[in-house]
Amino acid sequence: MSLHTSLKTGGPVDLYAIPEDTADLQNLLSWLGRQNIPWLPIGKGYNLLVRDGGIRGAVISLERFDRIDVIEEGVIRAEAGAENLAVVRFAQRIGRGGIGFISGIPGTIGGAIKMNAGAYGEGILERTEYLTLLRGGKISDYRMTELDYGYRHLRLEDGDIVLAAAFRLDEREPSHTEEEIRKDLELRRSKHNVGYPSAGSFFKNPHGQAAWRLIDAAGMRGEKVGGAQVSEVHSNFLVNTGNATAQDFLDLAAIVKNAVFASSGVKLEEEVRIVGET
Ligand SMILES: Cc1cc2nc3c(=O)[nH]c(=O)nc-3n(C[C@H](O)[C@H](O)[C@H](O)COP(=O)(O)OP(=O)(O)OC[C@H]3O[C@@H](n4cnc5c(N)ncnc54)[C@H](O)[C@@H]3O)c2cc1C
Repeated sequence: MSLHTSLKTGGPVDLYAIPEDTADLQNLLSWLGRQNIPWLPIGKGYNLLVRDGGIRGAVISLERFDRIDVIEEGVIRAEAGAENLAVVRFAQRIGRGGIGFISGIPGTIGGAIKMNAGAYGEGILERTEYLTLLRGGKISDYRMTELDYGYRHLRLEDGDIVLAAAFRLDEREPSHTEEEIRKDLELRRSKHNVGYPSAGSFFKNPHGQAAWRLIDAAGMRGEKVGGAQVSEVHSNFLVNTGNATAQDFLDLAAIVKNAVFASSGVKLEEEVRIVGET
């Protein structure tokens, strides 16, 4: 899984599947179901820490589901494997906008929806009209009012797969969106240029506070375990300086959490999804 995750850690998965279309995916799921094999859908692995023992079961990449369509005036529907920036660009071409804040977030719509990815105080689910989910073998649309979600979180049932999301967008001059994209990418180039593989922010920001400030105040900037390090550039980014194992990251995260708790009384929570076997 180190080949499929931005942190570049993780042992092997038993089965890595890249279904071609919905029928292919449904066949795969019914076969996995009959064999009692669990599955994990993934996007581009920008928010995944896979443990060193790898994953017993199947990983399903939705990368071939990448269509983006206009479904009604002002509403676009993007399949789970479409990349965030491609969706912003599509909207820009038809004079629509309002989700420019996801331009520079690496990954796919499926990952963005599951994580309620966001920036500048906005989250993608607040801009989402409905989700198309594959749940219990059935494909249905769910309005956001039917689902439980919050900061960097959407509650799904085990085995649920996000197939697509529909976004209601505002009218927006393409040049305005261009400026939004440019500013976002520039800001990220200056602030997130950590020089090593990472998963972005490792910890969620506790309510009203910035995780990086708490980590700094605890003296953890630059702290290292094996090949994993608290970035010198952005202390909420844990980076792989070359040959980090997943265990290095887990040990480093535990040290950081203890130090932050001791210095501020705040319990940090991982934003990164941790999966697989030790
Ligand atoms: C440099 C850098 C900067 C970043 N900046 C930000 C930022 O500003 N804001 C932010 O929110 N995040 C940020 N991230 C984190 C990451 O980009 C986001 O969480 C992104 O949404 C992950 O998308 P992905 O496609 O890679 O998902 P993955 O990492 O592949 O998956 C993430 C989770 O979603 C689940 N999932 C993926 N696809 C599906 C699906 N189709 N159905 C059901 N579940 C699914 C996976 O099982 C997993 O639990 C950053 C990461 C990096 C490396």
